[in-house]
Amino acid sequence: MRTETGIAVRYKDDPQAYMRAYYEKTREKQLAAGKIRGAKWRAENIDYKREKSRAVCASRKASVINLYGGMCCKCGYSDARALQLDHINGSPVPNADRTRAGEAGEKLYRRILDGLTDRGLYQLLCANCNWIKRAEAGECRRKT
Ligand SMILES: [Zn+2]
Repeated sequence: MRTETGIAVRYKDDPQAYMRAYYEKTREKQLAAGKIRGAKWRAENIDYKREKSRAVCASRKASVINLYGGMCCKCGYSDARALQLDHINGSPVPNADRTRAGEAGEKLYRRILDGLTDRGLYQLLCANCNWIKRAEAGECRRKT
């Protein structure tokens, strides 16, 4: 039975319960519709999403670079485009698995900013100093 407002009598004292019950009853349908709407929106706004994602990543990288002093700790080079986060004692994870394991790139920046990893394990090096260190420490596979 429904009242003049259209809300069932049994929910008269708790209109929120009507919404909860309606949601529970139609949950699967709503979730499926939401997935379709989301996929459609993502397809239509792919450039916006990419731009937004790049901006977030760039901002996170800038925060990490600032956290480590903003310059190469060996030579003082400070152009962010060539600064790299170096595992001081080498990474415990093989190169191929680093991104997936959160030991490189975006995931590593996030873990550092969220305090989920020991910040003392890393240092900021410019690309030249990093590659020189890798060669001298034997961190790279190829021997030159
Ligand atoms: Zn350097």
